[in-house]
Amino acid sequence: MNKIAQIAVAWLVAAITAACCGCKSLDAKNVAAMSNKATTVAKRMLSPEAKPQDILLVLAHPDDETWLSGTLARLAQLHRINVVYVSSGDAGSDRSGRELSGQTLAQEREAEVTAALKVLSIKAAPIFWRFPDTQLVSNSSAITNKLVTTLNTQNPQLVISFGSDGVTGHPDHTAVATITADAFSRWQQSQPIVKNNLRAQLWQVAVSKARAEQASNVAAAMKQPFRIAQPIDNERIDVQVDVSAHQQQRRAAFAQHKTQFPPSMQMLWNAFLLVDNYEEFHVVVPD
Ligand SMILES: [Zn+2]
Repeated sequence: MNKIAQIAVAWLVAAITAACCGCKSLDAKNVAAMSNKATTVAKRMLSPEAKPQDILLVLAHPDDETWLSGTLARLAQLHRINVVYVSSGDAGSDRSGRELSGQTLAQEREAEVTAALKVLSIKAAPIFWRFPDTQLVSNSSAITNKLVTTLNTQNPQLVISFGSDGVTGHPDHTAVATITADAFSRWQQSQPIVKNNLRAQLWQVAVSKARAEQASNVAAAMKQPFRIAQPIDNERIDVQVDVSAHQQQRRAAFAQHKTQFPPSMQMLWNAFLLVDNYEEFHVVVPD
């Protein structure tokens, strides 16, 4: 976006936000009001004094990290992060105009997400399991077994995946949510103590109804579709991560996904980031 367009969008977004009296304001006050459970959990991972830990992120498709890209950029300053993509998006369509499909599209999406994770300062290369896109439910038993093995090998202190809402409701997202919860539970039953007498945590990336409303107001003002199909009740958000210092990385990581997000979508995302300073999580297993 050039400077004038950026100012125009910022003005538009400020006007929408001011007019939206039904929105719960996503500001520092709400962070202070988080539950004790969440503040303890978040502190262990997010405070500048946090000891370096291993984090495992389990996602369905390249680009799914967008839902927590600012948090990843923040966690990457402190911890070691590995990201598993269960499928590589071979059933998707190419929005870059190059008409890639099948395995060629999957390869391109892998290259895009590799670049996106570098932008977020994640040092480890992404791990691609290459299960067929849109068919994760029918492969759930094999994926769960593979994930239990990975958890046993990596011994992460924090696992992050989708919740049962899948944010967008995509069947692959909800499958990954169930698979990760099952694998986490099996792993913890066999090996409950991880490091320093602390059990591993399980977080689920989510979008609250308040935040979804804010996003759809921005989209409506720009006459673009941007619907988060499965927001969760505001009260179910346990951790809000302040990502305001990482907006440039969030923009740049999103822009890597050229087969997913055409320029109109990138402009919309950039406008949304002008009002979106917190990413949200539901904590399933605190510690
Ligand atoms: Zn996805």
